[in-house]
Amino acid sequence: MQDGALLLVTRSVAAFATLADELRELGLAPLCCGLSELRVELDASGVGVVLLDHGMEGADAAVRELAERSRVACVVLVERDEEREAAISAGADDVLAAPWTASAIAERVEVVRLRAGRTRDAVRRSLFDAWATHTDDALVILDERGLVVAWNVAAVAVLGHEQRDVLGRPFAELIEVYEELGETPEELVEELLSGDTRASISMRVRGPDGAGAAEFSLNVTQWRDAGRRRVGLRVEEAATHEVEEEMMRLASFPELDPNPVLEFSRAGTLSYMNPATASLPKDAANALIEGVRAVISSFDPDEGVNLVREVEEIGGWFEQHIHYAPAWDSVRVYAQDISERKAAEQRLIDARDNLEQRVRERTSDLRREIDERKNAELRAIEASQAKSVFLATMSHELRTPLNAIIGYTELLHEDNTNPEERDDLQRILLAANHLLGLINDILDLSKIEAGRAQVRYEEVSLRDAVERVAMTVRPIAASRGNQITVSFSGSTGRCWTDPTKLRQVLINLVGNAAKFTEDGAVHVATVVRAQADRTWFEIAVRDTGIGIPAEKLESIFEPFTQADGSTTRLYGGTGLGLAICKKICEMLGGGISVVSELGVGSTFTIRLPGDKGSR
Ligand code: ADP
Repeated sequence: MQDGALLLVTRSVAAFATLADELRELGLAPLCCGLSELRVELDASGVGVVLLDHGMEGADAAVRELAERSRVACVVLVERDEEREAAISAGADDVLAAPWTASAIAERVEVVRLRAGRTRDAVRRSLFDAWATHTDDALVILDERGLVVAWNVAAVAVLGHEQRDVLGRPFAELIEVYEELGETPEELVEELLSGDTRASISMRVRGPDGAGAAEFSLNVTQWRDAGRRRVGLRVEEAATHEVEEEMMRLASFPELDPNPVLEFSRAGTLSYMNPATASLPKDAANALIEGVRAVISSFDPDEGVNLVREVEEIGGWFEQHIHYAPAWDSVRVYAQDISERKAAEQRLIDARDNLEQRVRERTSDLRREIDERKNAELRAIEASQAKSVFLATMSHELRTPLNAIIGYTELLHEDNTNPEERDDLQRILLAANHLLGLINDILDLSKIEAGRAQVRYEEVSLRDAVERVAMTVRPIAASRGNQITVSFSGSTGRCWTDPTKLRQVLINLVGNAAKFTEDGAVHVATVVRAQADRTWFEIAVRDTGIGIPAEKLESIFEPFTQADGSTTRLYGGTGLGLAICKKICEMLGGGISVVSELGVGSTFTIRLPGDKGSR
């Protein structure tokens, strides 16, 4: 059924059949029904105009009902003029008096239709205006030519322009487009009008008086208003605003960065430099830019670059991070002044070099010192050896004539009967023998010191060795009222040592003990001990003699040391015996020690290795 169709409501369809036919001929094609079917027809169809026969029972009530329906116009057919009043007061849109010709009816219907249409538009418009005025949404309506036909209060607040300044103006004049989009403002508006509804479109709307454009998101709706195309734009700014603020905030990072930040095109054209770069001295900034350009010129355009380098340029050292991603096609450079760090590094390097230099100098000093000392030592050793060789030779040369002196003096002593001469000869013999002992000792010591003494190891029975020494010394000991005893403990078996040298040491120690003891005892105690994987033997010579003063004990093993000068006079001796003992013990891989107390006695102990060991 057609929108705005014509409905003829009569007391008798048959009575109006001719009229209906005539109307049909005029192209009005009316539907016909009785009053009872009116509501059904209205609800079911798109009836726009009702022709109502006022002669029916309940006609006025029907008119009143129709008046409440805004979409339906009602033309009342009256037979008498008196009925007209009643019809109009019931709310009829128009009243037509009889005789009702088809042409008169057609004319009325047309008028009513037009009037009804206007009324509906007006209602719609006033409703829209009321809403548009009070909503917080900024609304703009364009007509089919793109001229602004509505600009509500919120649009004034959001977009800035007053209604009087924009109404009737082309919307295209109020917007800016991104050149990159390749579209003019006019083309953009045309697109809005073309009917391709876009849910949302972003565009920049210029502020009043040429103020900067701001980005807005516009919701677009197209509709027809009385057959004419309209475009409604609901303006939203909040979301885009936030994005823009966020972008501004992000974009401010390089702006606030105290270090240089730059952007180049891949061709090397500078497209951005931050304030920190701009504040560099001019030649320093140029050097930085040229340096980066040189790097850019060597890029492979298809390859990304992520380069960190340290360069010395005018104004100091810079660490540069150079990024090129083919996707951006721009080169970004972040530079940092590292002059201070470099200076610190240099100071460290200098300090290290300096230290190395000092170490080198000190090392060569030390080396020189060591060399000097070695040479001195060598000279000393040479000198000492020369002395020893000299002494050895000398003592040999001295011994030969001395032996002759002793031999002939003994002959003279044997043959002489004159008591006085015999005493004199006896004194010569004593002195000569003392001198011979001295020379022998010096010879021994010099031999050892000159490294000429040789050690001959053998398997030795310690018991035999010790008892033989005791036997040798016993007569001298007895002459001074002394007793010599020996003892053995541990494995007293056989030991590996030089028997001659051992004997020499024991004779000396036991001899000394007998010499410096009167009416006392001398005891020789031998102990053999297995220690770890070695065997050691100790021989301690203990006497009950005069003892040695504590202050002399330390130096007793040095040559020509005697505990008391008077003892020499009393007991003879050279002061070399203990020095020789010590040297021999050391040659044999051991040592000698002493404990003594004045007036109580002394104990000399030698400790020597008794196995083959590493020898
Ligand atoms: P000397 O030929 O004079 O005995 P030594 O080197 O054998 O030379 O002894 C050095 C000195 O050590 C002796 O003069 C003596 O004063 C002291 N001395 C050595 N053995 C004993 C001892 N058993 N008791 C006391 N004094 C000793």
